[in-house]
Amino acid sequence: MTKDRRRPGALVVAALVCCALAGCSGEASTPAALPPASSPAVRAAPPAVSASSPAVAPSPAVPPAGTATAAPAWLGTRVLPVGPDGFAAARITPPELLNRSIVTTDELPPPVDGRFHSTVQAVPADVLARSSWTSACPVKAQDLRYVTVGFRGFDGLAHTGELLVHERAAKPLVTVFGRLFAENYPIERMRISSVAELNAAPTGDGNTTEVFACRPVRGRKAWSQHAYGLAVDVDPFQNPYHKGKVVLPELATSYLDRGNARPGMVLARGPVVAAFAEVGWKWGGDYRSLKDFMHFSANGG
Ligand SMILES: [Zn+2]
Repeated sequence: MTKDRRRPGALVVAALVCCALAGCSGEASTPAALPPASSPAVRAAPPAVSASSPAVAPSPAVPPAGTATAAPAWLGTRVLPVGPDGFAAARITPPELLNRSIVTTDELPPPVDGRFHSTVQAVPADVLARSSWTSACPVKAQDLRYVTVGFRGFDGLAHTGELLVHERAAKPLVTVFGRLFAENYPIERMRISSVAELNAAPTGDGNTTEVFACRPVRGRKAWSQHAYGLAVDVDPFQNPYHKGKVVLPELATSYLDRGNARPGMVLARGPVVAAFAEVGWKWGGDYRSLKDFMHFSANGG
């Protein structure tokens, strides 16, 4: 889990949920009762990278071409009140996001040939400066890599995303995202968050796929695996974090129904879990005491 527009306290809790998993027991529970909604009134060329795959379930439904829509005008603007526990309350999913399929706004130049491409390099100074990295983080800047990979949008088009990752994670993640591109798995947005974005008040509707986020675990000295660049969150809105009454992103409650398969959902026997398993990364959807459907990490934390 990360962090879109969440207060520091909540960020810390989110960090905790990401990596304080080892000793958990019991099954994730269903939220007792979600509070009432407050506001909703309401193809491309083959990829350059491929990998042989074990038999897996069919890909999650790829949205039919042309069905993706522009983001609702209010997206990212409705700040949610945060309670004393540092979390905003979970909300009923607004109708516009029940089957979220939003056109990707290109933030990096898309591939002109529509194919999968990737780059791995030392982190440019300007990239480091706009990231959440500081010298207090548990990873040295020279151990991070700036990675760009192609991804398929919900609009069916090829886009370019950026990731800040640990050097050890660069090759595995390029392999995984190449595989996801080949599988036509849709991703809405992929970019590096700034400190301000990590610390912003929550709006509960973010959907950024990303790796690095420098944040500790609340009440502990331990850092999130995201703070090492060794964990990734994939399509957070379609794949929320859930423990007890806490759902992140807060408006993604509709996506707790994992039996209602929609584009972008990471499913247990689907290609996303299989792609990460091939490089040895573990899935937060397999956690027992909570569910972190967006989360994959190198060490299972
Ligand atoms: Zn995560």
